[in-house]
Amino acid sequence: MMQVWSASEAAPDRLENEDHVFRFGPLVGVLDGATVPDGFDTGCVHGPAWYVRHLAARIGLAVAARPAATLMSSLAAAILAVRADHGDDCDLDHPGTPSATVCLLRDGGDHVDYLVLCDSPLVLDVGGAVRVISDDRLDTALAELRRVAETVPPTDDPVTRFRRAVAVQRERMNRTHGYWVAATDPDAAYHAVTGTLPLTGAGAVRRAVLLTDGASCAVEQFGLFDWAGLLDLVSRDGPDALVSRVRAAEQDRGDRLRRRKRHDDATVVLCRFR
Ligand SMILES: [Zn+2]
Repeated sequence: MMQVWSASEAAPDRLENEDHVFRFGPLVGVLDGATVPDGFDTGCVHGPAWYVRHLAARIGLAVAARPAATLMSSLAAAILAVRADHGDDCDLDHPGTPSATVCLLRDGGDHVDYLVLCDSPLVLDVGGAVRVISDDRLDTALAELRRVAETVPPTDDPVTRFRRAVAVQRERMNRTHGYWVAATDPDAAYHAVTGTLPLTGAGAVRRAVLLTDGASCAVEQFGLFDWAGLLDLVSRDGPDALVSRVRAAEQDRGDRLRRRKRHDDATVVLCRFR
């Protein structure tokens, strides 16, 4: 039996939460819609918040329709269904089309299935040992972009620099040697990190925490604690406690780190198995 608690909060300086958390029976998921930088075109009349709501609903329907299918094939079916939801007013080949990271966990009774696409990690307590399931291709692609950026003529204009970075990031989306994310190409689902783990025996999954990067930054950027510490905080004080810690850290260190985006939407889901 799986018990689930969650917290999902928009960045304090933004109106809409582009993260989305859902539970449909045995399936729990977290999506993080990619924010569109001001002044960038997307070819879509709907936007990231619409995209994550529709993708979540379509994933739920796909899993309900074919419970025995893999999470990969259900995600592929969902991405395809959302293409149709966009309607004729959207250009689905536009490089800025709405996209989202995906983190899914399904309770299969004696095992769990998981799927991670792009940077929304899954932290697991497996028989007392901590395991982190993550997809680091976006980080790798961004590191490569920084190297490329160093070879092009410098510009003092931060707007030009930022526009160039967004353009190159869009070029790498859903390409071999780039990174993969849910958008309009169902093939992206087959590039996700997936697996199955037991819910019985010595190596059983006891706890799982699904995160968007607005919450995993507690470990990855702010170094407030390690993954084991994150699992313990969320188990002891609840998902809200992690979001509060991240908000406080953003406030304290945002200026010093000069993050372009000082806050981010943050989502935490705790699952416990008995
Ligand atoms: Zn659209």
